[in-house]
Amino acid sequence: MTSTAKPVPTIAIEGLTGCAGELLVILENMEKLIPFVRIKRFSFAQSDNQSGPVDISFVEGSVSQPHDLEKLIKIRANSRWLVAVGNCAVWGCVQKAACARCSVNEMLGAVYGADSEIAVMPATPLHDHVKVDVELSGCPINPTQFLAVAASVLKDHLPYITHKPVCLECKLNENPCVLIEKNLPCLGPVTAAGCGALCPSAGAACYGCWGPCESPQMDAMATILSEKGYSMDDVLMRLKSFGAPTHLFERLDPLLAKN
Ligand code: SF4
Ligand code: SF4
Repeated sequence: MTSTAKPVPTIAIEGLTGCAGELLVILENMEKLIPFVRIKRFSFAQSDNQSGPVDISFVEGSVSQPHDLEKLIKIRANSRWLVAVGNCAVWGCVQKAACARCSVNEMLGAVYGADSEIAVMPATPLHDHVKVDVELSGCPINPTQFLAVAASVLKDHLPYITHKPVCLECKLNENPCVLIEKNLPCLGPVTAAGCGALCPSAGAACYGCWGPCESPQMDAMATILSEKGYSMDDVLMRLKSFGAPTHLFERLDPLLAKN
């Protein structure tokens, strides 16, 4: 009699250039996944790693060095599903924002000296280079969202990931609004939900670490913060610090001209 049991899905957890925050979140929650998968590669956490194709690759980090790009292209070729995890992988995060302010070679020289031979490139998110099937942002990712995404992809379903603004979660938590009541520069209106409005729930302003929400009104956000007395330089630095794409700021030009 032939067995009809489906093979156990294989996964890989891979890191490019990043702080490894996503890898830690995945590691902390791995016991919930282990009954349903076989981990073929997770070099951050295990020494017995195998090459070859997998059903799902979860990839953290941005493409910031040529070997990141080579690794990413191999990962894509070996994965049925490629899931970008964390702000670095989805938006490019703080390193992408830094690369927009000065050249990577200037930064390299300042940190490692002018004669450094380390190969670097401007930091970019994964979707600039390969097809990405699912993007799960966060800095770091939310464990509940990660497990929900993993459960969907394991069943070959595209997961639902909210891109509503943080304000929605903030209101569900019945928080007082720190933007209105304390004049803090809260970016909740233009930032994607997923963290449970962590910062406003503690009385602090959201600084946008989840990346932009759907259809973020950057110009309206900048106008509000400018009217509250924040300088346009500070506002733009804050709005761009987690790698939001430049096209979201196109409508800001007239505002910039005024400042
Ligand atoms: S505190 Fe921030 S996230 Fe909460 S409602 Fe106000 S602007 Fe939105
Ligand atoms: S409230 Fe904003 S800055 Fe704080 S964790 Fe959530 S997305 Fe990040």
